[in-house]
Amino acid sequence: MKPCHWVFDSEVPGGKFLVPGCWSRAVGSDFSPCHCTREKGPSLKDRISKLEAKVQELSKAIATTPPKGETE
Ligand SMILES: [Zn+2]
Repeated sequence: MKPCHWVFDSEVPGGKFLVPGCWSRAVGSDFSPCHCTREKGPSLKDRISKLEAKVQELSKAIATTPPKGETE
């Protein structure tokens, strides 16, 4: 099974996080055995995709909504 992997992001503390992530690799080294189960990966990917779509949808809604109190 493919082990969980690091995703690098300058906006999170430490600059990286494990996906899907398990304590074995988070606490141990990158050479520690991955204890993630098979069904966690795709499930998390699906959830992330849905959340990204929702974020885009909300960002568009915010961009097209005029701020409150700014009517003539
Ligand atoms: Zn893992």
